[in-house]
Amino acid sequence: MNNYKHILCNSGAKLDKFKFDGTLGAIYSKESTEFRLWSPIASCVKVRLYKTGSDSEMGAGVIGTYKMTKNPVNGVWSYTVQGDLNGVYYTYLVSHPQMGERETGDIYAKAAGVNGERSMVIDLPTTNPDGWDKDDRVLFEHPTDAVIWEVQVRDFSYCESSGVSEKNRGKFLAFTEHTTLNGKEGGKATCVDYLKELGINCVQINPFYDFGSVDEASDREQYNWGYDPKNYNLPEGSFSSDPYKGDVRIRECKQMIQALHDAGIAVVMDVVYNHTYTGHGSWFDISVPGYYYRYNAEGFWSNGSGCGNDTASEHEMYRKFMIDSVMYWAQEYHLDGFRFDLMGLHDVETMKAIREALNTLPQGEKILMYGEAWDMFTSCEPGTKMANQHNMHLLPENVGAFCDNIRDAVKGSEFEQYSMGFVQNGSRRNEVFRGMRADTDFWAKTPTQAVNYASCHDGRTMYDKLCLSVFRDNSRYHLRHENILRMNRLAAAIMLTSQGIPFMVAGEEMARTKLGDHNSYKSPSKINRIDWNRIEEYSDLVDYYRGLIELRKKFAPFRDHTGTAIQKGMWLFTDNPTGAGYTLEGEAYGKRRKMLLLFNGAHHSECFDLASHGLTGWWDAVVNSEEAGTKFLGEYSRTICVPATSALILVEQDEITP
Ligand code: CA
Repeated sequence: MNNYKHILCNSGAKLDKFKFDGTLGAIYSKESTEFRLWSPIASCVKVRLYKTGSDSEMGAGVIGTYKMTKNPVNGVWSYTVQGDLNGVYYTYLVSHPQMGERETGDIYAKAAGVNGERSMVIDLPTTNPDGWDKDDRVLFEHPTDAVIWEVQVRDFSYCESSGVSEKNRGKFLAFTEHTTLNGKEGGKATCVDYLKELGINCVQINPFYDFGSVDEASDREQYNWGYDPKNYNLPEGSFSSDPYKGDVRIRECKQMIQALHDAGIAVVMDVVYNHTYTGHGSWFDISVPGYYYRYNAEGFWSNGSGCGNDTASEHEMYRKFMIDSVMYWAQEYHLDGFRFDLMGLHDVETMKAIREALNTLPQGEKILMYGEAWDMFTSCEPGTKMANQHNMHLLPENVGAFCDNIRDAVKGSEFEQYSMGFVQNGSRRNEVFRGMRADTDFWAKTPTQAVNYASCHDGRTMYDKLCLSVFRDNSRYHLRHENILRMNRLAAAIMLTSQGIPFMVAGEEMARTKLGDHNSYKSPSKINRIDWNRIEEYSDLVDYYRGLIELRKKFAPFRDHTGTAIQKGMWLFTDNPTGAGYTLEGEAYGKRRKMLLLFNGAHHSECFDLASHGLTGWWDAVVNSEEAGTKFLGEYSRTICVPATSALILVEQDEITP
């Protein structure tokens, strides 16, 4: 679009000189509301007030349209309306010589009507659920203390088997219910009560800001993960009981967070600041054409995200927007962490600025921050340092990144469907080793920077990936396979004992299947949903995960945040490249002890000669091929043989064995 090329020349980084540090958006008080929009190149801006969030509602109509005044120094347009505007909807009419007058929502909107089309003025304290003033963040001493379970709001409770009431299924409020499998009295706990029993202490929730891909006004069956932001600073309407009333989604989202906090579970929000639902016609695009996005030399939209537009974190006012937005969620919604989608598209300076801003909150340095630090092609000023793995050394130790090395080494590459890893055939041992050390010999400064995972919302589930690579056909996902489960247990033993922050997609521990779907972002709910019946059908696998999580919590060196525990450990290799192990030393069971971790990815047993490593004495197993936890599973000494496809984890025996 030629207009854009022209505007870009006048816009882009050149507008940075108008940087404004103050508050933007609708500044509410009971007496009046001041509207502020930053737009240095607009020729005219008006604010329009509406009675409803859409014209299809009863009582729809315009209340008034008011010309705003520009401050030529900083490019901020403002107008104050007298009276209590709580619940009044509004938009801006932004004029630009090349683009004409266009109507837009407020990029700083804290509330909105159906589909986020019109912003809404909100008296925020009225959205607080009962007891919100007593709600506290769930924070960890160090990021490595977290065990993260990634879930999508709709997936969590879509199924009847969740036991959630019909009206709350797929919604924020599902998290507030105490539920059992299929709603049976005395049945196994599901949903949040299940998570408490499982022992995970942190959920990462896929996008729950307002996204554009689901029509909130429609009753038809729809699905999208929601990586398509429309209004960054308010929750998604389709997860609420009433998307038309701007306050409802806010209150119900807070109730979800409160319920998780009550269960002792931290909440990490998946934030997608790297692109927007649409480029042309987005609130950013209309507010200040050409400024908030990156363009290449030819004037086309930069598309490193693959979603059609890359935002420009290196531009002052988008950087400010990201900081303001994260701070708003952290404070207003008591969030415990943020996961940055395609963090590699943001610059290092911005990520550091967000970290520094969070650090200013009470115990703010403990708020989790990590992201996808992939290498990405994007049109940025040459020399701009991007927040990818190569530059993690430039970021603080409490900013982490997903570790693709261990993901692929454990179970094969994400991108080649039949490729295998350590748990299928004992291959890639050295890469698994690297991962066990949290990639600290590579890009991570400390284990707190490495988020270890073998499954997430992207790609196949663990069970599907193992099935496909082993059977090489697409028809067996729905069946139970003992050999696949054995591999899954070995993978879990590696992931939950490795240095770093363990992370898994919801249901990895119940052999979740999406029937092989490797990119289910808009697949039907019946593919994406968690089938809670699997906690019974795969209860042995769930128990194994539960035991590993318990062990991780008990033995501090698994959660070492410094990287020294693993450096002091001793590495043990078998003659074959398929077996490996190490020792770790630290406080466990009330005293200082050594642990011995042995892993065998081969289809035959592997023996470790302990005496040749100077390891004498007796060892108590707490994890073997079938069971995991902190209870005694047999004693070993001298030469220890680890059966095919399994882990054996042992604790040094006491002189006075319990
Ligand atoms: Ca929406």
